Amino acid sequence: MLITREAVTTVGRLRVSIDPLVCACTGYCVQVVPAVFDLSGDGPTVVLDPHPPLDLLDSLSEAETLCPTHAIRVQVLPGT
Ligand code: SF4
Repeated sequence: MLITREAVTTVGRLRVSIDPLVCACTGYCVQVVPAVFDLSGDGPTVVLDPHPPLDLLDSLSEAETLCPTHAIRVQVLPGT
Protein backbone atom coordinates (compact mmCIF):
# COMPACT_ATOMS: atom_id res chain seq x y z
CA MET A 1 0.00 0.00 0.00
CA LEU A 2 1.40 3.35 -1.05
CA ILE A 3 0.84 6.21 1.35
CA THR A 4 1.38 9.70 0.08
CA ARG A 5 1.34 12.92 1.94
CA GLU A 6 -0.26 15.82 0.15
CA ALA A 7 1.14 19.25 0.63
CA VAL A 8 -1.06 21.30 2.88
CA THR A 9 -1.42 24.81 1.62
CA THR A 10 -2.95 27.44 3.79
CA VAL A 11 -3.26 31.11 3.16
CA GLY A 12 -1.80 33.63 5.49
CA ARG A 13 -3.74 35.75 7.87
CA LEU A 14 -3.66 39.40 8.73
CA ARG A 15 -2.44 41.20 11.78
CA VAL A 16 -3.49 44.79 12.27
CA SER A 17 -2.16 47.12 14.93
CA ILE A 18 -2.17 50.81 15.74
CA ASP A 19 0.36 52.85 17.62
CA PRO A 20 -1.90 54.78 20.00
CA LEU A 21 0.89 57.22 20.79
CA VAL A 22 0.92 58.59 17.24
CA CYS A 23 -2.77 58.24 16.26
CA ALA A 24 -4.14 61.74 15.63
CA CYS A 25 -7.80 60.61 15.76
CA THR A 26 -8.58 61.80 12.24
CA GLY A 27 -10.96 58.90 11.67
CA TYR A 28 -9.87 58.08 8.13
CA CYS A 29 -9.29 54.45 9.03
CA VAL A 30 -12.76 54.16 10.56
CA GLN A 31 -14.31 55.49 7.38
CA VAL A 32 -12.42 53.01 5.22
CA VAL A 33 -12.68 49.87 7.39
CA PRO A 34 -15.31 50.34 10.10
CA ALA A 35 -15.33 46.61 10.80
CA VAL A 36 -11.77 46.82 12.08
CA PHE A 37 -11.28 50.33 13.47
CA ASP A 38 -13.33 52.22 16.03
CA LEU A 39 -13.05 55.79 17.20
CA SER A 40 -16.19 56.08 19.29
CA GLY A 41 -14.36 56.41 22.59
CA ASP A 42 -12.32 59.24 24.01
CA GLY A 43 -8.91 58.01 23.06
CA PRO A 44 -7.11 56.99 19.90
CA THR A 45 -8.55 54.52 17.44
CA VAL A 46 -9.08 51.02 18.71
CA VAL A 47 -8.50 47.90 16.62
CA LEU A 48 -11.69 45.88 16.96
CA ASP A 49 -10.36 42.85 15.11
CA PRO A 50 -6.58 42.39 15.08
CA HIS A 51 -6.89 39.37 12.78
CA PRO A 52 -9.50 40.36 10.19
CA PRO A 53 -10.28 38.23 7.12
CA LEU A 54 -7.89 38.40 4.19
CA ASP A 55 -10.51 39.89 1.91
CA LEU A 56 -10.13 43.16 3.82
CA LEU A 57 -6.48 43.46 2.85
CA ASP A 58 -7.05 46.05 0.10
CA SER A 59 -9.15 48.26 2.34
CA LEU A 60 -6.71 47.92 5.21
CA SER A 61 -3.82 48.81 2.94
CA GLU A 62 -5.74 51.90 1.86
CA ALA A 63 -6.31 52.88 5.49
CA GLU A 64 -2.63 52.30 6.22
CA THR A 65 -1.71 54.56 3.32
CA LEU A 66 -4.23 57.27 4.23
CA CYS A 67 -3.23 57.45 7.89
CA PRO A 68 -1.49 60.82 8.15
CA THR A 69 0.65 59.79 11.10
CA HIS A 70 1.53 56.27 9.89
CA ALA A 71 0.02 54.80 13.02
CA ILE A 72 -1.42 51.75 11.28
CA ARG A 73 0.51 48.60 10.62
CA VAL A 74 -0.92 45.82 8.47
CA GLN A 75 0.98 42.56 8.19
CA VAL A 76 0.27 39.43 6.21
CA LEU A 77 1.40 36.53 8.34
CA PRO A 78 2.42 33.30 6.64
CA GLY A 79 0.07 30.36 6.73
CA THR A 80 0.91 27.33 8.81
S1 SF4 B 1 -6.19 57.23 10.18
FE1 SF4 B 1 -4.40 57.07 11.56
S2 SF4 B 1 -4.40 58.98 12.74
FE2 SF4 B 1 -6.44 58.76 11.81
S3 SF4 B 1 -7.69 57.74 13.39
FE3 SF4 B 1 -6.84 56.12 12.05
S4 SF4 B 1 -4.94 55.49 13.06
FE4 SF4 B 1 -5.51 57.46 13.96
